[in-house]
Amino acid sequence: MPLPSQQPILIAGGGPVGLIAALALARQGLAARVFEAEARVNDMPRAATTHAATLEMLDELGLADEVIRRGLVEPLFRTWDRATGRLIAEFDFGALKDDTRYPFAVQCEQHKLAAMAIERLRAFADASVEFNTRVVAVAQTGDGVEIAVETPDGTRQVRGSYLIGADGGRSTVRKAMEIEFEGYTHPERFLILTTPFDLGAGYPGCTRNYFSDPDDWCALFKVSGDDGTGLWRVLSSTRPEERESDLLGAAATEARLQKFFPKDGPYPIVHRNLYSVHQRVAARFRKGRAFLAGDAAHVNNPLGGLGLNFGIHDVMELTCLLGRAIRREAAPDILDLYDHHRRPLNIEFVQQQTIANKKRMEEKDPAARQRNFDQLAATAADPAAHRAYLLRASLIDSVRKRAAAAA
Ligand SMILES: Cc1cc2nc3c(=O)[nH]c(=O)nc-3n(C[C@H](O)[C@H](O)[C@H](O)COP(=O)(O)OP(=O)(O)OC[C@H]3O[C@@H](n4cnc5c(N)ncnc54)[C@H](O)[C@@H]3O)c2cc1C
Repeated sequence: MPLPSQQPILIAGGGPVGLIAALALARQGLAARVFEAEARVNDMPRAATTHAATLEMLDELGLADEVIRRGLVEPLFRTWDRATGRLIAEFDFGALKDDTRYPFAVQCEQHKLAAMAIERLRAFADASVEFNTRVVAVAQTGDGVEIAVETPDGTRQVRGSYLIGADGGRSTVRKAMEIEFEGYTHPERFLILTTPFDLGAGYPGCTRNYFSDPDDWCALFKVSGDDGTGLWRVLSSTRPEERESDLLGAAATEARLQKFFPKDGPYPIVHRNLYSVHQRVAARFRKGRAFLAGDAAHVNNPLGGLGLNFGIHDVMELTCLLGRAIRREAAPDILDLYDHHRRPLNIEFVQQQTIANKKRMEEKDPAARQRNFDQLAATAADPAAHRAYLLRASLIDSVRKRAAAAA
Protein backbone atom coordinates (compact mmCIF):
# COMPACT_ATOMS: atom_id res chain seq x y z
CA MET A 1 0.00 0.00 0.00
CA PRO A 2 1.30 3.51 -0.73
CA LEU A 3 2.41 5.49 2.30
CA PRO A 4 -0.27 8.24 2.46
CA SER A 5 1.87 11.20 3.52
CA GLN A 6 4.63 10.46 1.05
CA GLN A 7 5.12 12.86 -1.85
CA PRO A 8 6.13 11.00 -5.02
CA ILE A 9 9.73 10.31 -5.84
CA LEU A 10 10.48 12.15 -9.07
CA ILE A 11 12.63 10.57 -11.73
CA ALA A 12 14.20 12.60 -14.54
CA GLY A 13 14.70 10.37 -17.60
CA GLY A 14 12.70 7.46 -18.94
CA GLY A 15 15.67 5.43 -20.13
CA PRO A 16 16.15 1.92 -18.79
CA VAL A 17 17.68 3.14 -15.50
CA GLY A 18 14.89 5.61 -14.68
CA LEU A 19 12.19 3.11 -15.58
CA ILE A 20 13.75 0.29 -13.55
CA ALA A 21 14.02 2.73 -10.62
CA ALA A 22 10.31 3.52 -10.93
CA LEU A 23 9.40 -0.15 -11.01
CA ALA A 24 11.56 -0.95 -7.99
CA LEU A 25 9.89 1.91 -6.06
CA ALA A 26 6.38 1.00 -7.18
CA ARG A 27 6.87 -2.59 -6.03
CA GLN A 28 7.61 -1.23 -2.56
CA GLY A 29 4.33 0.71 -2.59
CA LEU A 30 6.09 4.04 -3.14
CA ALA A 31 4.73 6.66 -5.54
CA ALA A 32 7.04 7.37 -8.48
CA ARG A 33 6.74 9.77 -11.43
CA VAL A 34 9.02 9.48 -14.45
CA PHE A 35 9.53 12.44 -16.79
CA GLU A 36 10.98 11.63 -20.20
CA ALA A 37 11.99 14.42 -22.57
CA GLU A 38 11.42 12.47 -25.78
CA ALA A 39 8.14 11.27 -27.26
CA ARG A 40 9.02 7.59 -26.84
CA VAL A 41 11.66 5.16 -25.66
CA ASN A 42 14.93 5.57 -27.59
CA ASP A 43 15.46 2.41 -29.67
CA MET A 44 18.86 3.20 -31.15
CA PRO A 45 21.39 0.36 -30.75
CA ARG A 46 23.10 0.76 -27.40
CA ALA A 47 23.22 -1.71 -24.50
CA ALA A 48 22.34 -5.34 -25.09
CA THR A 49 24.65 -7.43 -22.91
CA THR A 50 22.98 -8.19 -19.59
CA HIS A 51 25.22 -9.89 -17.06
CA ALA A 52 24.49 -12.49 -14.38
CA ALA A 53 24.47 -10.07 -11.44
CA THR A 54 21.95 -7.88 -13.24
CA LEU A 55 19.75 -10.81 -14.22
CA GLU A 56 19.52 -11.71 -10.53
CA MET A 57 18.33 -8.18 -9.75
CA LEU A 58 15.89 -8.16 -12.66
CA ASP A 59 14.52 -11.42 -11.30
CA GLU A 60 13.64 -9.60 -8.06
CA LEU A 61 11.51 -7.31 -10.22
CA GLY A 62 9.95 -10.21 -12.12
CA LEU A 63 11.70 -9.26 -15.36
CA ALA A 64 14.50 -11.80 -15.82
CA ASP A 65 12.41 -14.47 -17.53
CA GLU A 66 11.12 -12.02 -20.11
CA VAL A 67 14.61 -10.59 -20.73
CA ILE A 68 15.83 -14.14 -21.39
CA ARG A 69 12.84 -14.96 -23.58
CA ARG A 70 13.17 -11.80 -25.70
CA GLY A 71 16.97 -11.85 -25.80
CA LEU A 72 19.67 -14.34 -26.75
CA VAL A 73 21.39 -16.44 -24.10
CA GLU A 74 25.16 -16.59 -24.69
CA PRO A 75 27.53 -18.28 -22.21
CA LEU A 76 30.67 -17.64 -24.28
CA PHE A 77 32.79 -14.78 -25.49
CA ARG A 78 35.95 -14.94 -27.56
CA THR A 79 38.96 -12.74 -28.25
CA TRP A 80 40.73 -13.02 -31.59
CA ASP A 81 43.93 -11.58 -33.06
CA ARG A 82 42.40 -9.94 -36.11
CA ALA A 83 45.65 -9.78 -38.08
CA THR A 84 46.24 -13.54 -37.99
CA GLY A 85 42.68 -14.73 -37.44
CA ARG A 86 43.96 -16.69 -34.43
CA LEU A 87 41.63 -17.39 -31.51
CA ILE A 88 43.41 -16.07 -28.41
CA ALA A 89 40.97 -17.00 -25.67
CA GLU A 90 37.47 -18.29 -25.09
CA PHE A 91 35.66 -17.57 -21.84
CA ASP A 92 32.62 -19.50 -20.66
CA PHE A 93 30.26 -18.04 -18.06
CA GLY A 94 29.30 -21.66 -17.43
CA ALA A 95 32.29 -21.61 -15.07
CA LEU A 96 30.06 -19.55 -12.74
CA LYS A 97 27.41 -22.26 -12.39
CA ASP A 98 28.00 -22.44 -8.62
CA ASP A 99 28.05 -18.63 -8.27
CA THR A 100 24.83 -17.62 -9.99
CA ARG A 101 21.51 -18.96 -11.25
CA TYR A 102 22.42 -17.25 -14.55
CA PRO A 103 25.80 -18.60 -15.74
CA PHE A 104 25.59 -16.71 -19.05
CA ALA A 105 25.04 -13.26 -20.53
CA VAL A 106 21.80 -12.35 -22.27
CA GLN A 107 21.85 -10.10 -25.32
CA CYS A 108 18.62 -8.13 -24.88
CA GLU A 109 18.41 -4.64 -26.36
CA GLN A 110 17.90 -1.89 -23.80
CA HIS A 111 14.77 -0.49 -25.43
CA LYS A 112 13.08 -3.85 -24.87
CA LEU A 113 13.96 -3.71 -21.18
CA ALA A 114 12.60 -0.15 -20.98
CA ALA A 115 9.37 -1.24 -22.67
CA MET A 116 9.00 -4.18 -20.27
CA ALA A 117 9.37 -1.84 -17.29
CA ILE A 118 6.74 0.54 -18.70
CA GLU A 119 4.37 -2.37 -19.23
CA ARG A 120 4.82 -3.54 -15.60
CA LEU A 121 4.38 0.00 -14.25
CA ARG A 122 0.85 0.12 -15.66
CA ALA A 123 -0.26 -2.14 -12.81
CA PHE A 124 0.61 0.53 -10.21
CA ALA A 125 -1.84 3.40 -9.71
CA ASP A 126 0.84 5.48 -8.00
CA ALA A 127 3.38 5.22 -10.81
CA SER A 128 3.40 7.31 -13.97
CA VAL A 129 5.59 7.84 -17.02
CA GLU A 130 5.15 11.15 -18.85
CA PHE A 131 6.72 11.47 -22.29
CA ASN A 132 7.45 14.79 -24.05
CA THR A 133 8.21 16.15 -20.58
CA ARG A 134 11.68 17.57 -20.07
CA VAL A 135 13.06 18.43 -16.65
CA VAL A 136 14.54 21.92 -17.02
CA ALA A 137 15.14 23.14 -13.46
CA VAL A 138 15.69 21.62 -10.03
CA ALA A 139 15.29 23.21 -6.60
CA GLN A 140 15.50 21.66 -3.16
CA THR A 141 13.57 22.69 -0.07
CA GLY A 142 14.22 21.37 3.41
CA ASP A 143 11.68 18.59 3.09
CA GLY A 144 11.39 18.01 -0.65
CA VAL A 145 12.35 18.80 -4.20
CA GLU A 146 10.66 20.92 -6.81
CA ILE A 147 11.35 20.58 -10.51
CA ALA A 148 10.22 22.52 -13.54
CA VAL A 149 9.12 20.40 -16.50
CA GLU A 150 8.65 21.62 -20.04
CA THR A 151 5.84 20.02 -22.04
CA PRO A 152 4.15 20.83 -25.36
CA ASP A 153 1.47 22.61 -23.23
CA GLY A 154 3.95 24.77 -21.36
CA THR A 155 6.12 24.64 -18.27
CA ARG A 156 4.88 23.56 -14.84
CA GLN A 157 6.28 22.88 -11.40
CA VAL A 158 6.16 19.43 -9.79
CA ARG A 159 6.90 18.71 -6.14
CA GLY A 160 8.29 15.47 -4.79
CA SER A 161 10.05 13.98 -1.79
CA TYR A 162 13.26 13.00 -3.63
CA LEU A 163 14.64 13.28 -7.15
CA ILE A 164 16.53 10.63 -9.09
CA GLY A 165 18.49 12.07 -12.00
CA ALA A 166 18.52 9.23 -14.52
CA ASP A 167 18.64 11.62 -17.45
CA GLY A 168 21.69 10.24 -19.22
CA GLY A 169 25.24 11.43 -19.85
CA ARG A 170 24.27 15.07 -20.43
CA SER A 171 22.16 15.08 -17.26
CA THR A 172 20.30 18.31 -16.55
CA VAL A 173 19.94 17.22 -12.92
CA ARG A 174 23.71 16.78 -12.55
CA LYS A 175 24.34 20.20 -14.06
CA ALA A 176 21.61 21.83 -11.94
CA MET A 177 23.26 20.39 -8.85
CA GLU A 178 26.60 21.77 -10.06
CA ILE A 179 28.29 18.39 -9.80
CA GLU A 180 31.49 17.95 -11.77
CA PHE A 181 31.59 15.07 -14.32
CA GLU A 182 35.19 14.05 -13.72
CA GLY A 183 37.23 12.11 -16.27
CA TYR A 184 37.89 12.40 -19.96
CA THR A 185 36.44 11.93 -23.44
CA HIS A 186 38.28 9.72 -25.91
CA PRO A 187 39.32 11.63 -29.05
CA GLU A 188 37.88 8.95 -31.33
CA ARG A 189 34.23 7.98 -31.68
CA PHE A 190 32.80 4.48 -31.95
CA LEU A 191 30.64 3.39 -34.87
CA ILE A 192 28.00 0.68 -34.76
CA LEU A 193 26.71 -0.89 -37.94
CA THR A 194 23.83 -3.34 -37.75
CA THR A 195 23.05 -5.92 -40.41
CA PRO A 196 20.65 -8.85 -40.69
CA PHE A 197 23.31 -10.67 -42.74
CA ASP A 198 24.41 -13.77 -40.80
CA LEU A 199 27.94 -12.76 -39.84
CA GLY A 200 27.95 -15.56 -37.30
CA ALA A 201 28.38 -18.17 -40.03
CA GLY A 202 32.11 -17.34 -40.05
CA TYR A 203 32.34 -17.68 -36.25
CA PRO A 204 30.14 -20.61 -35.31
CA GLY A 205 29.32 -21.40 -31.71
CA CYS A 206 29.68 -17.93 -30.20
CA THR A 207 27.76 -14.70 -30.78
CA ARG A 208 30.07 -12.36 -28.80
CA ASN A 209 33.46 -11.89 -30.50
CA TYR A 210 36.20 -9.30 -29.97
CA PHE A 211 38.84 -8.81 -32.70
CA SER A 212 41.92 -7.08 -31.33
CA ASP A 213 44.00 -5.08 -33.83
CA PRO A 214 46.55 -2.27 -33.46
CA ASP A 215 44.97 -0.28 -36.30
CA ASP A 216 41.41 -1.46 -36.78
CA TRP A 217 39.82 -3.50 -34.00
CA CYS A 218 36.16 -4.47 -34.01
CA ALA A 219 33.61 -6.37 -31.97
CA LEU A 220 30.82 -8.52 -33.35
CA PHE A 221 27.62 -9.30 -31.41
CA LYS A 222 24.30 -10.82 -32.20
CA VAL A 223 21.06 -9.43 -30.82
CA SER A 224 17.65 -10.93 -31.35
CA GLY A 225 16.08 -7.84 -32.98
CA ASP A 226 12.49 -6.71 -32.55
CA ASP A 227 11.09 -9.63 -34.53
CA GLY A 228 13.47 -12.23 -33.06
CA THR A 229 15.07 -13.08 -36.42
CA GLY A 230 18.50 -11.80 -35.34
CA LEU A 231 20.72 -8.84 -36.14
CA TRP A 232 24.51 -8.55 -36.09
CA ARG A 233 26.16 -5.47 -34.65
CA VAL A 234 29.69 -4.52 -35.66
CA LEU A 235 31.33 -2.05 -33.28
CA SER A 236 34.56 -0.34 -34.35
CA SER A 237 36.57 2.78 -33.74
CA THR A 238 36.99 5.80 -36.00
CA ARG A 239 39.81 8.33 -36.30
CA PRO A 240 39.40 11.66 -34.51
CA GLU A 241 39.70 13.67 -37.73
CA GLU A 242 37.01 11.69 -39.61
CA ARG A 243 33.78 13.60 -40.21
CA GLU A 244 30.39 12.16 -39.34
CA SER A 245 29.01 12.68 -42.86
CA ASP A 246 31.97 10.76 -44.33
CA LEU A 247 31.80 7.94 -41.80
CA LEU A 248 28.07 7.34 -42.13
CA GLY A 249 27.80 7.49 -45.93
CA ALA A 250 26.64 4.30 -47.70
CA ALA A 251 29.97 3.70 -49.44
CA ALA A 252 31.98 4.21 -46.25
CA THR A 253 29.86 1.90 -44.13
CA GLU A 254 29.86 -0.78 -46.83
CA ALA A 255 33.67 -0.51 -47.14
CA ARG A 256 34.04 -0.79 -43.36
CA LEU A 257 32.00 -4.00 -43.16
CA GLN A 258 33.80 -5.48 -46.17
CA LYS A 259 37.15 -4.66 -44.53
CA PHE A 260 36.26 -6.57 -41.37
CA PHE A 261 34.16 -9.33 -42.88
CA PRO A 262 34.67 -9.58 -46.69
CA LYS A 263 31.85 -11.15 -48.62
CA ASP A 264 30.41 -11.21 -52.14
CA GLY A 265 27.80 -8.53 -52.73
CA PRO A 266 26.81 -5.56 -50.60
CA TYR A 267 25.65 -5.71 -46.99
CA PRO A 268 22.11 -4.82 -46.00
CA ILE A 269 22.62 -2.25 -43.21
CA VAL A 270 19.75 -1.33 -40.90
CA HIS A 271 21.50 1.01 -38.44
CA ARG A 272 24.50 3.34 -38.69
CA ASN A 273 25.28 5.03 -35.38
CA LEU A 274 28.23 7.08 -34.21
CA TYR A 275 28.86 7.57 -30.48
CA SER A 276 31.22 9.76 -28.48
CA VAL A 277 33.08 7.70 -25.90
CA HIS A 278 33.77 8.91 -22.37
CA GLN A 279 35.23 7.71 -19.10
CA ARG A 280 33.61 9.99 -16.54
CA VAL A 281 32.24 9.70 -13.03
CA ALA A 282 30.25 12.39 -11.21
CA ALA A 283 32.16 13.91 -8.30
CA ARG A 284 29.27 12.86 -6.04
CA PHE A 285 26.12 10.83 -6.59
CA ARG A 286 23.99 12.68 -4.02
CA LYS A 287 23.27 16.25 -3.10
CA GLY A 288 20.57 16.60 -0.46
CA ARG A 289 17.42 14.97 -1.75
CA ALA A 290 18.68 14.57 -5.30
CA PHE A 291 20.59 11.52 -6.56
CA LEU A 292 22.33 10.61 -9.79
CA ALA A 293 22.07 7.14 -11.32
CA GLY A 294 23.04 5.37 -14.54
CA ASP A 295 24.73 7.44 -17.25
CA ALA A 296 23.92 10.65 -15.37
CA ALA A 297 26.38 9.43 -12.73
CA HIS A 298 28.96 7.59 -14.83
CA VAL A 299 29.81 6.88 -18.46
CA ASN A 300 32.33 4.48 -19.95
CA ASN A 301 33.28 2.87 -23.23
CA PRO A 302 31.00 -0.05 -24.14
CA LEU A 303 33.67 -2.79 -24.31
CA GLY A 304 32.60 -5.37 -21.77
CA GLY A 305 28.98 -4.22 -21.69
CA LEU A 306 29.01 -2.74 -18.19
CA GLY A 307 27.45 0.76 -18.22
CA LEU A 308 23.77 -0.07 -18.13
CA ASN A 309 24.35 -3.11 -15.95
CA PHE A 310 25.96 -0.91 -13.32
CA GLY A 311 23.21 1.71 -13.72
CA ILE A 312 20.61 -0.92 -12.89
CA HIS A 313 22.67 -1.90 -9.84
CA ASP A 314 22.68 1.79 -8.84
CA VAL A 315 18.94 2.07 -8.73
CA MET A 316 18.39 -1.30 -7.10
CA GLU A 317 20.54 -0.03 -4.22
CA LEU A 318 19.14 3.50 -4.21
CA THR A 319 15.48 2.46 -4.25
CA CYS A 320 16.12 -0.01 -1.43
CA LEU A 321 17.78 2.73 0.68
CA LEU A 322 14.98 5.20 -0.12
CA GLY A 323 12.36 2.63 0.87
CA ARG A 324 14.07 2.00 4.20
CA ALA A 325 14.46 5.70 4.94
CA ILE A 326 10.86 6.53 3.98
CA ARG A 327 9.43 3.65 6.01
CA ARG A 328 11.65 4.84 8.89
CA GLU A 329 13.32 1.45 9.14
CA ALA A 330 16.61 3.34 9.21
CA ALA A 331 17.78 6.87 9.95
CA PRO A 332 17.78 9.25 6.95
CA ASP A 333 21.57 9.26 6.88
CA ILE A 334 21.39 5.72 5.49
CA LEU A 335 21.02 7.52 2.14
CA ASP A 336 24.67 8.58 2.42
CA LEU A 337 25.59 4.97 1.71
CA TYR A 338 24.52 5.39 -1.90
CA ASP A 339 27.31 7.80 -2.81
CA HIS A 340 29.68 6.20 -0.34
CA HIS A 341 29.51 2.82 -2.07
CA ARG A 342 28.41 3.30 -5.67
CA ARG A 343 31.02 5.84 -6.75
CA PRO A 344 34.14 3.84 -5.76
CA LEU A 345 32.55 0.63 -7.05
CA ASN A 346 32.03 2.25 -10.45
CA ILE A 347 35.65 3.34 -10.61
CA GLU A 348 36.95 -0.08 -9.55
CA PHE A 349 34.66 -2.33 -11.55
CA VAL A 350 33.44 -0.32 -14.54
CA GLN A 351 35.99 2.38 -15.34
CA GLN A 352 39.04 0.20 -14.73
CA GLN A 353 37.68 -2.81 -16.65
CA THR A 354 36.42 -0.88 -19.66
CA ILE A 355 39.65 1.14 -19.94
CA ALA A 356 41.67 -2.11 -19.80
CA ASN A 357 39.36 -3.77 -22.35
CA LYS A 358 39.83 -0.87 -24.78
CA LYS A 359 43.61 -0.88 -24.32
CA ARG A 360 43.74 -4.61 -25.01
CA MET A 361 41.72 -4.21 -28.20
CA GLU A 362 43.90 -1.44 -29.65
CA GLU A 363 47.41 -2.04 -28.21
CA LYS A 364 49.98 -0.91 -30.77
CA ASP A 365 53.23 -2.07 -29.16
CA PRO A 366 53.88 -5.60 -30.51
CA ALA A 367 55.55 -6.80 -27.30
CA ALA A 368 52.74 -5.48 -25.08
CA ARG A 369 50.20 -6.95 -27.46
CA GLN A 370 51.81 -10.37 -27.25
CA ARG A 371 51.96 -10.09 -23.45
CA ASN A 372 48.24 -9.27 -23.38
CA PHE A 373 47.43 -12.26 -25.56
CA ASP A 374 49.60 -14.60 -23.49
CA GLN A 375 48.01 -13.36 -20.27
CA LEU A 376 44.48 -13.70 -21.61
CA ALA A 377 45.16 -17.20 -22.96
CA ALA A 378 46.73 -18.26 -19.65
CA THR A 379 43.75 -16.87 -17.71
CA ALA A 380 41.29 -18.72 -19.92
CA ALA A 381 43.26 -21.97 -19.61
CA ASP A 382 43.44 -21.96 -15.79
CA PRO A 383 40.05 -22.87 -14.21
CA ALA A 384 40.51 -20.74 -11.06
CA ALA A 385 41.76 -17.70 -12.99
CA HIS A 386 39.02 -18.20 -15.61
CA ARG A 387 36.33 -18.12 -12.92
CA ALA A 388 37.92 -15.11 -11.17
CA TYR A 389 38.04 -13.19 -14.45
CA LEU A 390 34.36 -13.87 -15.10
CA LEU A 391 33.27 -12.97 -11.56
CA ARG A 392 34.68 -9.53 -12.26
CA ALA A 393 33.43 -9.29 -15.86
CA SER A 394 29.87 -10.18 -14.81
CA LEU A 395 29.88 -7.64 -11.93
CA ILE A 396 29.28 -10.42 -9.39
CA ASP A 397 32.46 -9.29 -7.60
CA SER A 398 31.13 -5.74 -7.41
CA VAL A 399 27.87 -6.96 -5.84
CA ARG A 400 29.79 -9.17 -3.40
CA LYS A 401 32.04 -6.32 -2.37
CA ARG A 402 29.01 -4.13 -1.67
CA ALA A 403 27.32 -6.93 0.28
CA ALA A 404 30.47 -7.50 2.34
CA ALA A 405 30.55 -3.80 3.24
CA ALA A 406 26.92 -3.99 4.42
CA ALA A 407 27.51 -7.08 6.56
C1 LIG B 1 27.22 1.57 -28.53
C2 LIG B 1 26.89 1.31 -27.10
C3 LIG B 1 26.78 0.01 -26.64
C4 LIG B 1 26.52 -0.23 -25.30
N1 LIG B 1 26.43 -1.52 -24.85
C5 LIG B 1 26.20 -1.76 -23.55
C6 LIG B 1 26.04 -3.09 -23.09
O1 LIG B 1 26.09 -4.04 -23.86
N2 LIG B 1 25.79 -3.29 -21.76
C7 LIG B 1 25.71 -2.23 -20.89
O2 LIG B 1 25.54 -2.46 -19.68
N3 LIG B 1 25.82 -0.95 -21.31
C8 LIG B 1 26.05 -0.69 -22.61
N4 LIG B 1 26.08 0.59 -23.06
C9 LIG B 1 25.80 1.70 -22.14
C10 LIG B 1 24.28 1.94 -22.03
O3 LIG B 1 23.73 2.19 -23.28
C11 LIG B 1 24.01 3.10 -21.08
O4 LIG B 1 24.74 2.88 -19.89
C12 LIG B 1 22.51 3.19 -20.78
O5 LIG B 1 21.79 3.73 -21.87
C13 LIG B 1 22.26 4.08 -19.56
O6 LIG B 1 20.88 4.15 -19.31
P1 LIG B 1 20.26 5.44 -18.63
O7 LIG B 1 18.82 5.15 -18.46
O8 LIG B 1 21.08 5.82 -17.47
O9 LIG B 1 20.51 6.61 -19.68
P2 LIG B 1 19.88 6.79 -21.14
O10 LIG B 1 19.64 5.48 -21.78
O11 LIG B 1 20.73 7.78 -21.83
O12 LIG B 1 18.45 7.42 -20.83
C14 LIG B 1 18.32 8.74 -20.34
C15 LIG B 1 16.95 9.23 -20.73
O13 LIG B 1 16.77 10.52 -20.16
C16 LIG B 1 16.13 11.33 -21.11
N5 LIG B 1 16.45 12.71 -20.76
C17 LIG B 1 17.60 13.39 -20.97
N6 LIG B 1 17.54 14.63 -20.44
C18 LIG B 1 16.30 14.74 -19.87
C19 LIG B 1 15.65 15.76 -19.16
N7 LIG B 1 16.23 16.92 -18.92
N8 LIG B 1 14.38 15.53 -18.73
C20 LIG B 1 13.76 14.34 -18.95
N9 LIG B 1 14.36 13.33 -19.64
C21 LIG B 1 15.60 13.53 -20.08
C22 LIG B 1 16.66 10.88 -22.45
O14 LIG B 1 15.79 11.23 -23.49
C23 LIG B 1 16.77 9.38 -22.23
O15 LIG B 1 15.59 8.71 -22.62
C24 LIG B 1 26.35 0.86 -24.41
C25 LIG B 1 26.42 2.18 -24.89
C26 LIG B 1 26.69 2.39 -26.22
C27 LIG B 1 26.76 3.81 -26.72
